[in-house]
Amino acid sequence: MNEPYGRVYNFSAGPCTLPVEVLEEARDGLMNYKGAGMSVMEMSHRGKVFEGILDDTRNQLRKILSVPENFQILFLQGGASTQFSMVAMNFLCKGTADYITTGTWGAKGFESAALEGNAKEIFSGKSTNFDRLPCKDDLQFSPNAQYVYYTSNETVQGVEFKGDQSFPGHVVCDMSSDILSRPIDFNKYALIHAGAQKNMGPAGATVVIISDDMIDRVPQGLSPMFDYRVQAQNGSMYNTPPCWSIYMCGLTYHWVERQGGVTEMQKRAQKRSGLLYEAIDGSNGFYKGHSQKDCRSIMNVTFTLPNEDVTKTFVKEAEAAGFDGVKGHRATGGIRASIYNAFPVQGCVDFATFMKEFAGRNY
Ligand SMILES: *Cc1c(COP(=O)(O)O)cnc(C)c1O
Repeated sequence: MNEPYGRVYNFSAGPCTLPVEVLEEARDGLMNYKGAGMSVMEMSHRGKVFEGILDDTRNQLRKILSVPENFQILFLQGGASTQFSMVAMNFLCKGTADYITTGTWGAKGFESAALEGNAKEIFSGKSTNFDRLPCKDDLQFSPNAQYVYYTSNETVQGVEFKGDQSFPGHVVCDMSSDILSRPIDFNKYALIHAGAQKNMGPAGATVVIISDDMIDRVPQGLSPMFDYRVQAQNGSMYNTPPCWSIYMCGLTYHWVERQGGVTEMQKRAQKRSGLLYEAIDGSNGFYKGHSQKDCRSIMNVTFTLPNEDVTKTFVKEAEAAGFDGVKGHRATGGIRASIYNAFPVQGCVDFATFMKEFAGRNY
């Protein structure tokens, strides 16, 4: 569908579609990266070439997200799931922390933290199958919380906070599935973390952006790989970093800038998701959005159809028409269309048309 390579519209939730330009650039350097005589996958992480790549990747992320100087950017391994534990290992030892659980990933973050210390879940959307966000009255923050933890976009349920939240104290946010989809006000955060494979690059690297103030609070005696201070002091090179993933993230960060930056990413995301929500809302109830309207994600559009059979038919026909990976997560069923930064707007125009046409035939 995306000429000239015969690529499908890839709605996968992650790993997911990457910009064609980025893939082409990576391909062109695969045999001989800029005269090094080898690919980035094959070179020493301690060599000049890779050190240049790491520096450039870090600087480029700082540039496109306007990360202030008092925040360190780390590229770690273990995915966002390791951050669930690492955040708690570093900051939960001295007291409690408040967890706001709005979906599957937040629930896992809380469970992992509860194994490390006294984590307190101050909100859970579980009773309504994670279809909503807390309102102001739902949230009673603990006066002595070491941090407040939440997930900006719940990838499975398609529930997303609109913009930065003004929660009290040190705010930790899992932005795995919506980082780079809008500007971020870092005054509102102490730490954000995000796996690469949703909006940045291939799986492998996990980005952590952490304030110096937070690093100062890391206790002594942590195992070095799980110690933010050690990772920061070593410039993400305490051990072999995920070199290839970092390199690919760097290419994507440059791509984002060429497209017009994160504000342009936000516009495109609103356009893409708007097309699909319009198809849902205009279907006379044939499609039902999973999340409540004011909590809808611009990255993961989730909805159900009248029954299992018609859902199966939908997935099958969608795939045959070149729309890959629309089957919903097992936790919610139905359909999930993940439409990250690199997903072409035209793919949503075409998918919305398919949805309307399918509803017409099956209503
Ligand atoms: C995908 C995802 C995760 C898990 O990431 P891993 O890299 O598989 O550990 C965590 N949180 C959110 C919001 C995600 O979308």
